[in-house]
Amino acid sequence: MIAGNWKMHMTHLEAIGLVQKVVFSLKENELDTAEVVVLPPFTALRSVQTLVTGDKLGIGYGAQDLAAADSGAYTGEVSGGMLSALGCSYVAVGHSERRALHGEDDAVVAAKVNAALRHGIVPILCVGEGLDVRRAGTHVAHCTGQLDAALEGLTAEQLTAPGDGTGIGAGPGGGLVIAYEPVWAIGTGEVATPEDAQEVCGALRARLAERFGTETAQSVRILYGGSVKAANTAGILAGADIDGALVGGASLDADEFAQICRIAA
Ligand code: 13P
Repeated sequence: MIAGNWKMHMTHLEAIGLVQKVVFSLKENELDTAEVVVLPPFTALRSVQTLVTGDKLGIGYGAQDLAAADSGAYTGEVSGGMLSALGCSYVAVGHSERRALHGEDDAVVAAKVNAALRHGIVPILCVGEGLDVRRAGTHVAHCTGQLDAALEGLTAEQLTAPGDGTGIGAGPGGGLVIAYEPVWAIGTGEVATPEDAQEVCGALRARLAERFGTETAQSVRILYGGSVKAANTAGILAGADIDGALVGGASLDADEFAQICRIAA
């Protein structure tokens, strides 16, 4: 699975151009073994939906965040129900930029994971350590701790249920995707080594197996994110517990993103 997190880039008009270019770059049978997903800003979701619905490539899409609540007096928020009505299959939850810039703590992240699952949207739960934690050597415990907190109170059934029927482009995977994104690797050009990425992704899968059983742990897709480019994709994806990548900057370049998808397929 290759997911492109566009962050706060692309007007809805620019989004149309970017998706068209990605679709133009990729041939119909090139994605047979890879699921491709884009996460545009809220304002571009409707345009992306219109473009990819029924497209031969079956590109999926989702949002970068959602509200923990379902409706009410929450000015500026967007609910899971609104995203589900737009056919979103996925939603990123707990991205390090939301944690750092919007004060989202473990409790908020857990509430948002719950909100996504409630609406049949597969959460892409982001975890990852900062440079201080990496230097202290406690990165594995930090990431498994974030995982534990975000999945508090959930059952194996909730994590393996497929996305809801409205999920156009919904993938074959289960009801949860995890993205390991070391904060020091995001937007820095400093990609984790394949060994470092595998160390944490392997530990995350082992923790899932401990809590929810091996079958559930295997059904959850674990992505790596942080300065992924076409040139380092193959090395990262070689990790036994790495099922794909969450791509930021490189997902804004149609040719580069298409090349990453090709390498993954
Ligand atoms: P970059 O690929 O730009 O490092 O961003 C990674 C990321 O944060 C994806 O969610």
